[in-house]
Amino acid sequence: MSTDNQQPTTDNHFETLAVRTQTERTQFDEHSTPLYLTSSFVFEDAEDMRASFADEKNKNLYSRFSNPNVTEFIDKIVKMEDAESGYAFATGMAAIYSTFAALLNSGDHIVSCQSVFGSTHTLFTKYFPKWNIETSYFKAEDEKNVEKYIQPNTKILYVETPTNPAIEILDLEFLAQIAKKHNLLFIVDNCFATPYLQQPIKYGADVVVHSATKLIDGQGRVLGGVAVGKADLIREIYLFARNTGPAISPFNAWVLSKSLETLAIRVEKHCENALKVAEFLENHPNVELVKYPFLKSHPSYEVAKKQMKLGGNIVAFEVKGGSEGGRNFLNKIKMCSLSANLGDTRTIVTHPASTTHSKLSGDERNEVGITPGLVRCSVGLENVEDIIGDLRQALD
Ligand SMILES: *Cc1c(COP(=O)(O)O)cnc(C)c1O
Repeated sequence: MSTDNQQPTTDNHFETLAVRTQTERTQFDEHSTPLYLTSSFVFEDAEDMRASFADEKNKNLYSRFSNPNVTEFIDKIVKMEDAESGYAFATGMAAIYSTFAALLNSGDHIVSCQSVFGSTHTLFTKYFPKWNIETSYFKAEDEKNVEKYIQPNTKILYVETPTNPAIEILDLEFLAQIAKKHNLLFIVDNCFATPYLQQPIKYGADVVVHSATKLIDGQGRVLGGVAVGKADLIREIYLFARNTGPAISPFNAWVLSKSLETLAIRVEKHCENALKVAEFLENHPNVELVKYPFLKSHPSYEVAKKQMKLGGNIVAFEVKGGSEGGRNFLNKIKMCSLSANLGDTRTIVTHPASTTHSKLSGDERNEVGITPGLVRCSVGLENVEDIIGDLRQALD
């Protein structure tokens, strides 16, 4: 995208990049970026059209390939993640699927952390084997031995951190070194942290993927996804996406680009509320266990402190009384929402064992750290005393 004097400079800070990165103004001198709802773009003449299609002009051709609103959204995330390049998708899963599909060949192998988002797990177990792509998993507590899962045909090391929903923390610096040593692509789902709390590329990640549906939108409105990273890899991902069609709508990209302007300030408050909720839960007699990265009791507290600015907005906890206890707790909730989303302004509670991860067997759930009484709370932006009040009355 072309730039003009609205553009921030490279030494500007995160918040400034988020607010000031904008598409070029039109002849109307608008202050806020307008919505470009157009499927295609026009050309001056046959020569302009030829040169544009030959990629000589860096010009928009068709909104499956690029669109000014989409480009603005991508430009912001690229700067916020300190990446070289990026591409945006209709959903987080489209970003994750396209990244794997573009970078893998039949016969390749993936090493992944065990606790991953449910649909990502389904890609690994149900679809990739159809193309002779197998996945091996390592547990968070076995991270130091990750090399024993690497095979001659391993191509990708894939992790989420913090993981959904077990809130495990994986050491990005350590894993990036292992990936480099074995010539693997290191890919990180940075959805739970957002670029504000954690920038995996600084530690050596090759590609970072996001579900923008969560904290990036932050207001429970639109779906979206993005992949950013090394330019040559993003080029492959872009070509795959351009031909297979998981493009994001310009409207959704416009919404998400506006959301990024307030990401830092929203995430600060989400994390402040979440830490207070985690501390409250840790001291409640009907709670067996609390998992929150910035609680000293978290097994990877030191790693979380090293690589994350704050602890994120997701608190996982184990209610006493197993599956029954977890469901009873949800039934008593009055204000917080029972919903499948997370990263919304509204606090959301879910019971993964009976919902998002119900397709897994009991053993598989235990393997990925989803115990029967586990509750996942996405702490929102209501007054924290009201959030804690609701949780307290449901636990008491
Ligand atoms: C929600 C989520 C996804 C999938 O994103 P969608 O936008 O729902 O497709 C991927 N990874 C993580 C960690 C998520 O929480």
